[in-house]
Amino acid sequence: MNEDALKALQAAIPAEHIRTDDAERYRASMDNMRFSRLPSAVIHPAEEDELAAVLKIANQYLIPITARGAGSATTGATTPEVDGWVIDLSSWKNLHIDAGAMMAFVQPGVTIQAIDDAAREHGLFFPPDPGSKKFATIGGALACNAGGLRGAKYGVTRDYVFGLEGLMANGEFVKWGANLRKYVSGYNIRDLWIGSEGTLGIITGAVLKLLPTPASRVTLLAAFSDERSALETVRKILEARLTPAILEFLDSETVECFRRSERVDELPDWMRAFLDGPVLLIEFDGHQAEVDESFATLREILGAQKIHFKSTTDEDEAEVLWTIRRGSSKAMFQLGNTKLNEDIVVPLEAQIPLLGVIEKLRQSTGLPCPTFGHAADGNFHVHIMYNREDQASCEKAKKGINELMQAVVELGGVITGEHGVGLAKSPFLRLQHSAFEVDLMQRLKLLFDPNNILNPGKMFEPFEVWEHPREEVKMPWDH
Ligand SMILES: Cc1cc2nc3c(=O)[nH]c(=O)nc-3n(C[C@H](O)[C@H](O)[C@H](O)COP(=O)(O)OP(=O)(O)OC[C@H]3O[C@@H](n4cnc5c(N)ncnc54)[C@H](O)[C@@H]3O)c2cc1C
Repeated sequence: MNEDALKALQAAIPAEHIRTDDAERYRASMDNMRFSRLPSAVIHPAEEDELAAVLKIANQYLIPITARGAGSATTGATTPEVDGWVIDLSSWKNLHIDAGAMMAFVQPGVTIQAIDDAAREHGLFFPPDPGSKKFATIGGALACNAGGLRGAKYGVTRDYVFGLEGLMANGEFVKWGANLRKYVSGYNIRDLWIGSEGTLGIITGAVLKLLPTPASRVTLLAAFSDERSALETVRKILEARLTPAILEFLDSETVECFRRSERVDELPDWMRAFLDGPVLLIEFDGHQAEVDESFATLREILGAQKIHFKSTTDEDEAEVLWTIRRGSSKAMFQLGNTKLNEDIVVPLEAQIPLLGVIEKLRQSTGLPCPTFGHAADGNFHVHIMYNREDQASCEKAKKGINELMQAVVELGGVITGEHGVGLAKSPFLRLQHSAFEVDLMQRLKLLFDPNNILNPGKMFEPFEVWEHPREEVKMPWDH
């Protein structure tokens, strides 16, 4: 621990905002990847001046700083450096909705769910919807450019940001964008901050875009005999220029996991027809006429192929159609006690070839790889299931992830579509980017943060996940 830095910190901000007890340090030592590195202090600044003072001291004493929201990142992006300082902004929860302007003004600790709930009171909504939205903060979502299920129609967090403000590594206050719908003054550093995983600055406020709540919605579950025909249907849906809000693909291995789980007993008898193979879960929302028209076209597409489906506009029945999707992630743990959840993206024309890649992966590793995905985006979650106590199983998983990443890049895809790089994907960054591109990113980082204090060691330095043990802890979002 750097005692001089700590003394300077104690002189600059109230003692009760600095936590050095073991429990707090341990809590802030990891994210959902569960790789722990103990910081020497966890700082809860009350406001921006305090945060600026912390950054100035950290910059002077070269203390690594990791900003933290809910710690739900899955890549180790929120794991601090040993003896670094964590800046916990989860209590910064101011939220104001300007219904007329259809904007939300938020501090970084507000959860995505809270923004959406507040917007809905005004007939508006906040479209980004990561599965973790009850817990995930907007600061973390901006820093990871989080996506979610509704990406098919509504895109990702970046698509809903007018302005950001925050602090640079040296404590300087900056504003990128504003509460304006158009803004092209100077370089677009706002978008550079989004997705930068806390390496370029600390976000202290954001102006977000809200949309009117759709007036109507229809939900549909369709059963297929094989994955290929399910993804061919995805293609037909997109080629028909339909824009579903949700277009989820679940492969047969995923559905089989659900079928063997205890949640299967929740299903009414008519849902059993959806447990024998891959499924697509589809939702359209918008004005009634638009939804009706889209739904009619979809019926034609499915009817022409004699595909069995069930649709509803009733909210409770829609929840039943969602049961397999909601229950399948947990159900996968029958196949192994550890999951590598890869969030790769491939172009539309590579979706069917990706099926071949996954099948090859199963054969070459002997491991189950249940896969589901946001098919309209080409964003698939390939889950490599293994047992972490078993060395042979770990070796196979390691081989599997290398093969998968290589194949995805060869298909013209990307190694991560929503979770980000953090530590977990850092070994694959150079598969995706040329040496020049990585070097340029690193030079940019040093321009923003010359002493490399902001979340160092992330993205660029290949991290050997396999050499580090995983903590056995229950997190708030665990089932
Ligand atoms: C069950 C579960 C489901 C998930 N589902 C999805 C999903 O559907 N889609 C998806 O995209 N992700 C998903 N995630 C990943 C994760 O929840 C999101 O990336 C989320 O946005 C992270 O928010 P957080 O508050 O937990 O951030 P944290 O984990 O606290 O931080 C994440 C990163 O942001 C940085 N950071 C945090 N706050 C700030 C700030 N104020 N300024 C600068 N940098 C900051 C951190 O340093 C870190 O690098 C899921 C995770 C879990 C556990």
